[in-house]
Amino acid sequence: MAATSRGTTPVPPVVRPRLTVLSGPSGVGKSTVVAHMRKVHPEVWLSVSATTRKPRPGERHGIQYFFVSDDEFDKLVANGELLEWAEFAGNRYGTPRRAVTERLEAGEPVLLEIDLQGARLVRESMPEAQLVFLAPPSWDELVRRLTGRGTEAPDVIERRLEAAKIELAAEAEFDTTLVNTSVEDVARELLALMEVA
Ligand code: 5GP
Repeated sequence: MAATSRGTTPVPPVVRPRLTVLSGPSGVGKSTVVAHMRKVHPEVWLSVSATTRKPRPGERHGIQYFFVSDDEFDKLVANGELLEWAEFAGNRYGTPRRAVTERLEAGEPVLLEIDLQGARLVRESMPEAQLVFLAPPSWDELVRRLTGRGTEAPDVIERRLEAAKIELAAEAEFDTTLVNTSVEDVARELLALMEVA
């Protein structure tokens, strides 16, 4: 490698383990992509968020989320235990800080699946993070997915669609966009971005 014009010895770039943030509108299929990735590459570590939302059928504490009360969430915030947190459609969600830091320090890639507000907060506090936007193939498809899930009340769906409109407009803030036409393809592309596969 050539020396710089001032004659200083070039320092090789420090290779830092990458923090990857997957975000995108509610209902776009982020959790399905992540679940598929976990199945194919169980060694890829995914942060488990804390939330005040009630578990959906089949969701388990410590697997999809740490389901906590409002008081418990208040304490996590007050003690600085969350890397970021946001309110989304009437519930709070946050990323436990310590587990993420430990993994990155151990040199392992880390994946966060969080909402847009959280992605922006991560960008501020960790500018080296790579932000990946998961986009729906079309707006109609997003409405179909959100409505078809069948787990949310109509007013909740309405709030999530409102949030989705705002979130779609934020695509330009992200480093990369992946269009969710196929879960397998997106999971493969995401792993490639994380340099896992
Ligand atoms: P859901 O209730 O459908 O599981 O999640 C609602 C939204 O919250 C999704 O967009 C999801 O990505 C986001 N979310 C999940 N965990 C976190 C988190 O720790 N922080 C933030 N900011 N958003 C999160």
